[in-house]
Formats: sequence, structure tokens, C-alpha cells
Amino acid sequence: MMTQRKIIHLDMDCFYAAVEMREHPELAGQPIAVGGGSRRGVVTTCNYEARKFGVRSAMPGFQARERCPDLIFLPVRFDLYRAASAKVRQILLSYTPLVEPLSLDEAYLDVTGLDRYAWDIAKEIRKRIFEETQLTGSAGIAPNKMLAKIASDWRKPNGQFAITPDQIETFVRDLPVRKIWGVGPKGAEKFEQQGIRTCGDLQKIELPEMVRRHGKWGQELYQLCRGLDDRPVEPNRIRKSLSNECTFLDNLTTLEECQRELDKLVDELEQELSAKALDRPVHKAFVKVKFADFTRTTRECVSLSPTRETYRALLAEAYKRSPQPVRLLGSGVRFSEDTEEERSSFQQLLSLVNPIV
Ligand SMILES: [Mg+2]
Repeated sequence: MMTQRKIIHLDMDCFYAAVEMREHPELAGQPIAVGGGSRRGVVTTCNYEARKFGVRSAMPGFQARERCPDLIFLPVRFDLYRAASAKVRQILLSYTPLVEPLSLDEAYLDVTGLDRYAWDIAKEIRKRIFEETQLTGSAGIAPNKMLAKIASDWRKPNGQFAITPDQIETFVRDLPVRKIWGVGPKGAEKFEQQGIRTCGDLQKIELPEMVRRHGKWGQELYQLCRGLDDRPVEPNRIRKSLSNECTFLDNLTTLEECQRELDKLVDELEQELSAKALDRPVHKAFVKVKFADFTRTTRECVSLSPTRETYRALLAEAYKRSPQPVRLLGSGVRFSEDTEEERSSFQQLLSLVNPIV
């Protein structure tokens, strides 16, 4: 049996907005949003003052302004956020080389090998981050990645929360399925229609039935809804693409139907992009189609800022491949590889901290 892991998920509090607040002390106490000021823009991040009015990330700027007329819109300045992020990462890497960044403001750390309480490490990390950047972050501490990420949300902002191995069962029982890693709003909705709200509800489904309903993902789901997750922390993982997909209860039988569903997926993808990867240049767009007989096809094209039309054209091409009804659609982007620079500077940083790497 493997040793029990100790994972910390660190999540900076409204990161872009926090950096801007640090740079603009005169705006203290005022609601601010980063991004969303242009006609078609969406809010990337907003501070807690703005959240009180119901402003949220990925919300169109005009809607944010409706909810909060005094909202101050600031332009996105990635250079600043990258610099702050690099400082945070440097602090994290001074504890362990096992740091997996998820985005500029989030990372997992595997501190299993350190001979200290993970709770104390997280506390010290947050203190040092504040001293060196004047920014606050929240931490989740748990035996695995999924639970650590959930836990970091629990005492936000500027707090931390731990889930110990003996608390997992109780913690997970009432946890909404939406919180399971990999279950999106769509998936949660579908579960809801089947009367499944919590992980406890999901646990009542036996493994063979889970696999019958969800395929390979069913096996993972069976583990995840019990709070079990054995994905390791991967220090060199850099996200190369972002995508979503949807399996339909009833197969889609016409191109028009497919287009309607694809439009929804593309809208969601755009929101997710602005929330998670706005700093990454998009290089390609792709569409995935799985047919009723389980054959699948992917169509992609070079596009720096794909639109609904881009995806519709790809879908039309993919659709021609088979006369079968469609059971799954997916949309996605691949990021350009000019993150090489980022990767090598990260490697350099790693080698400074840990000469063996
Ligand atoms: Mg954050």
C-alpha cells in the first residue's frame, strides 16, 4: 500500500484584481473588475467588493455594469500577474520541486516527503507570500488533489482548510456532485435530473452500473465520489489544450441539432478560456464528434481567435464523415507552443532550487 499523500492546493484570492488593488492603493474599498471594459469583453476577475453586487468572473462587462453601476473596469495586464505569479512559484519551489501550476494563480504541492505538518507548511507559505507580494492566498490540505482543491475554497479569502483521511467519508457524503473533479455544470444538471445531488447519492450506484452508464469515466467517477483520487502532482505538466464535451441522452440526428448544441459548448468554452487561460495564445480550434456506433472523428484548423462560425465549419466537415446519429460533441482549442520560453524559465527556476533536476 502506498503511503498516504499530503497535498496542498494553493489558490490566490481574486488574483488579477488583488494585484491591481496593490498597484492602485487609491482604489481601496471600491468594486473593481479586471477586463470586461470593452464592448464585447468579459470580466476576468473582480474583487470581493464587486462580488457583493453579484459580479462574477466570465460575466460580460455590460451585465457586470448593470449589477454594479460604480464598478471600476481596469485593463488586463498580464506582465504584472506573471511577475507576481513567478514570485509565488519561487516560494512554493523553496519547499518542494513537486509543484504543479494549474494557472497563474493556482498550484498543487506534494509535501508528502517533508517532515512537517502540511497545515504548518501551508500557513508559512501563505505568510511568506503575503510578506513578499502583499497578496493573499487560500490553501486546501488533503490526502489527494481533488479534495485539496475543494478544501482551498472552504475558508476563502486568506484562510486554509484541511481534510484528514479519517474525515473523507463524512466530508464527501454531502458534497454536491458538481464539486467532483471533471463534473461540469452540464454534467451536474444531468445527474440532478436523475435525482443525484450529492456524492453520497452517487455512491449508491454499483461499479458495473457506473461503467455501463459512463464508460471508462465511470470507473474514475466511482473512485472520485468516494473521495479517492490517485492522480500524482505533475511538476512539468503544461496544459496544451482546453476542451469540453457533452454526451447526449438522446442521439442528435440532424446537422442543425448538432450545431445548436455545439454553439452552447463553444460559449462555455469561451467562458472557461477567459477564466482559466486568458494569458495563453490560442493556436488551433477543434471539434470532436462521436457517432452512435462509437466511431469518432476530430476536425481541427489553425485559428488564433476561433468563433462559433469556425466551429460550425469544422462540425459540418466532421458530420459528413458518417451517416450515423451523433452521441457526443466536443469543442476545444490548442495553445500555441510559444510557452517554450515559460517552460525553460520554469526549468531554470527548478534547477536553482533543486540542482538534481
Ligand atoms: Mg484564485
